[in-house]
Amino acid sequence: MAKNITFKDMALPSFEAINPLKVEELMPVPNLGEEPPFEPPPDKWKEKYDLSLDWHSPIALPKPNAAEQERILKGFLKGLERLFNPQDNWTFLKILRLTTDYCMRCQTCSDACHVYIGSGEQEIYRPTFRAEILRRLYRRYFTSSGKFLRSLVGADLEANYHLAMRLVESAYRCNVCRRCAQVCPVGVDNALISREIRKVFTQELGIAPKELFTKGTRQHLLVGSSTGMQPGGFKESIEFIEDDMGERTGRKIHIPIDQKGADILLIHNAGEYLSWPENPGAFGVLFQMAGISYTLSSDLVGYDGVNYGLFCDDLELARIGLRHIQVAKKLGCKKIVVGECGHATKTLCVITDRVLPGDMATSEMPRESCLPLFWEIYKSGVLKFDPSRNNFPTTLHDSCNIARLMGIVMPQRKVTRAICPQFREMTPNGAHNYCCGGGSGFAIMNELNFPQWRKKVSERMKTKQILEAFKDCLDPSIQKYVIAACSNCKGAMRDLIAHYKLWDKYSITYGGLVELMVNAIVDLPPFMELEFFSPD
Ligand code: SF4
Ligand code: SF4
Repeated sequence: MAKNITFKDMALPSFEAINPLKVEELMPVPNLGEEPPFEPPPDKWKEKYDLSLDWHSPIALPKPNAAEQERILKGFLKGLERLFNPQDNWTFLKILRLTTDYCMRCQTCSDACHVYIGSGEQEIYRPTFRAEILRRLYRRYFTSSGKFLRSLVGADLEANYHLAMRLVESAYRCNVCRRCAQVCPVGVDNALISREIRKVFTQELGIAPKELFTKGTRQHLLVGSSTGMQPGGFKESIEFIEDDMGERTGRKIHIPIDQKGADILLIHNAGEYLSWPENPGAFGVLFQMAGISYTLSSDLVGYDGVNYGLFCDDLELARIGLRHIQVAKKLGCKKIVVGECGHATKTLCVITDRVLPGDMATSEMPRESCLPLFWEIYKSGVLKFDPSRNNFPTTLHDSCNIARLMGIVMPQRKVTRAICPQFREMTPNGAHNYCCGGGSGFAIMNELNFPQWRKKVSERMKTKQILEAFKDCLDPSIQKYVIAACSNCKGAMRDLIAHYKLWDKYSITYGGLVELMVNAIVDLPPFMELEFFSPD
């Protein structure tokens, strides 16, 4: 049963979790079978870390002493004040104000949120829950009416360290997928609230999941990639991929690096080189055979399209976005094309412009998703595709960043329908899709037991959608493929398929779109075996 947690419970001065979870309270998923219970955190974690929201934490903050608690609270309030100051937050203040000023409390957004629904409607995950806390705190501490009239103007919440930490933890239970914003009748954006709460903690206090910050944007800017891969390692991985592609296709495949004057700078999420090298490999095959003029870059940051500043830090976001543009200009490319990565595409194509001041504007360098280019290649007729090569059930997961937030919905469908005879849609899909559950960095956040929360709660709705899409062919003798043209979404697919044993029970696997295109090229031998793509 959902727990009736109140705003004041969030301030309870205790390190006990206020909302422990039970599997039997979560949204039921047909065909899932028996599900293991939530594993409680070991005592040594309870002693060491602040897990006081729901016994999970991607932040993994060691329990602070009284002085440290005071410092965190002060930093939080200072950051909150800056959030509403036009000089400090010119980037996102307008939409933040709209959200804090105009919510009608109709709760349409709650019915749209896969985390809230998937959790069994636990109050702490309701889209408006964290927004209302932020709203009340801002009024209480930074408006005259709130300082004096408190409860009369909805400013009755007193801040303490525990409230601040539970609030930022709750911001890391939101995928920032903006499905809630899409349905809001007055256009308020609770996803932005989550993102801005995270920003306060990163920019003001340096508190963030290490995968996004110290091992994310910091590492990206210092060594060249958020994976830790340096330029030399990147070049070696391309050599390895070229050899592999040569063996698979029986042709010499050359993947250009640092080629000046190429039309396109192609930037992949560098996680592909380590986890799914067949994806950048398939790009190499497709682009070479289609005669596309392109290059990769070995410059620092230029070979990793990831930008985790999108999820928690404006400054890091701007630094990485600017670097991507500089690399393309240095090579003399006419445009940047982003590989199969949703957040990298949205960041580079849309958000970077918003966080750079006028004299650093990036708009003179065109930037695009790879998906329309796939359709251009297909319909140009330069290559012949044989759909019978992909004659197994497929469904398409839309990256929220690409479909909902950029409106790119049809190119990937046109390609898929043309080359996959057994394609079927998930419901809902396109701009109305549900997040994979790995959005806003969750897919790579693995501190303590956070993966358990992700698999059981945020990835739950996507698991349900996949099982429903294949409900007519669940028989394990039929191999099935979930297309996820996004690196982080693939991470979530790998996660949920392994956790719920969807390969073992139902022969459901996953992968990118470009691999299916190359698999169908008539002039080449088949590119893939589904077993090869299984999460095991
Ligand atoms: S749908 Fe919009 S107005 Fe309604 S509760 Fe949600 S944020 Fe507020
Ligand atoms: S952004 Fe997505 S996960 Fe976050 S509250 Fe809105 S619908 Fe839920």
